[in-house]
Amino acid sequence: MSKITFLGGVEEIGGNKILIETKNEKFFLDFGLSFSKFGKFYSDFLQPRVSNGIGDYLELGIIPEMNGIYRNDLLKNEGRKTFDKPEIDGVLLSHAHADHSSNIALLHKDIRIFCGETSKIILKALQETGQGTFNSDYYWYKENFVKRGKKPQHERKYHTFRTGDKLKIGNIEIEPIHVDHSIPGAYGFIIHTNDGSICYTGDLRVHGNKGFMTEEFVEKASSEEIDILLCEGTKINENEKGLTESQVFNKVKEIIKETKNLVFVNFSLKDVDRLNTFYKACVECGRELVIPTKLAYLIKEFRSDKNLQIPKLNDVKIYLHKTGWGSYEPEDYNSWERDLFNYETVNGDEVRKMQEKYVVFMDFFDLKELINIKPEHGSVYIYSTSEPHDEEQAIDFNRMKNWLEHFNLKYFTAHASGHANSEEIREIVKRINAKKVVPIHTEHPLMFKHFVKNLIIAKYGETINF
Ligand SMILES: [Zn+2]
Ligand SMILES: [Zn+2]
Repeated sequence: MSKITFLGGVEEIGGNKILIETKNEKFFLDFGLSFSKFGKFYSDFLQPRVSNGIGDYLELGIIPEMNGIYRNDLLKNEGRKTFDKPEIDGVLLSHAHADHSSNIALLHKDIRIFCGETSKIILKALQETGQGTFNSDYYWYKENFVKRGKKPQHERKYHTFRTGDKLKIGNIEIEPIHVDHSIPGAYGFIIHTNDGSICYTGDLRVHGNKGFMTEEFVEKASSEEIDILLCEGTKINENEKGLTESQVFNKVKEIIKETKNLVFVNFSLKDVDRLNTFYKACVECGRELVIPTKLAYLIKEFRSDKNLQIPKLNDVKIYLHKTGWGSYEPEDYNSWERDLFNYETVNGDEVRKMQEKYVVFMDFFDLKELINIKPEHGSVYIYSTSEPHDEEQAIDFNRMKNWLEHFNLKYFTAHASGHANSEEIREIVKRINAKKVVPIHTEHPLMFKHFVKNLIIAKYGETINF
């Protein structure tokens, strides 16, 4: 008999941590951060104490209590039992969004991380450009709480794959198949155990630029006998279809064409499709795209990923925000940013003088740059990312609106969701035709009952035997 235990990813959107146990193997499908469990106790200004290792996370149930999976340095500090060897065989990562991958930073150094090539690049870049605290130690870490001498350093054990590969965890064969999602390098999995086959969708959609990838995944899954389908249902309760990526492109191009002065855009840095959408719109409208250093760094790291089509750093301009002494010299910036000075950069004062020339990326944290840029009358702001989904984000969103109002920026939205709409979900479930279906990554699992006969509604901590 084999078991699936849901330690995240049910009764909430994201936070996926699904434990698969067979006679000899034990591994997780994703090990993401639960925004709802974290947000219940913490905010931007009330954070877990670094000084208490993972004690704060465990006490508040943000991560599950489990032996032999966490970093010894973070356990030792709280006087908890440590383990020389991990008690699981690995984590199978579907993609590099935080709600699927972020808590791998807390895992034992010897736990193998299986993921796509692209996810590894993204996670490494996120750590290198991050805050430097232990909760972003995705790729390597230096042991915390070492009083004297050199701190031991550990590189995590990554095993990467591409679509079409077959991997093995113990005797279990796993087929990773690419899917379309709002981040490159996203995969679904078909997992063959002695007790039956599991299909895990990760996060996916059909309406993006790479819908064919999801098609290939569904096609493969439907050609197999699937016993349990773990299917994402983020948008299952929404009737509206939403825009496709190509509709976003048309809308954005129209807005840029009609605008005389500056165009600001806000989209997710990891959404390469949206980057391409804006880049293409800029080319067609004769403007230059200006991107933040974090995105420029990610593009630089993507060089080793030959399958990924993205603009080159020479085709865009890199925005230098005002920091340090405000002189826009390399010394003012983080060490990972300094290399970027080899490319063309532009600062707020320069943008101010050429407003009709640029489309400038500006997210919530960059709004203060508006004070230097001083957008002329008729400038616009295109919000091209998902709507706020909790109270705190709603407060930030309202603050952003105040900035836009203060600087007389006309506000537009243009976004295609990273998640399948309800019609797409129904179609996927129907075609895969699994014996049993467990909705995951949704707050509305019961909505599946309208089109699924053998539905299992899993609660947090529950185990399904098969
Ligand atoms: Zn997700
Ligand atoms: Zn995702």
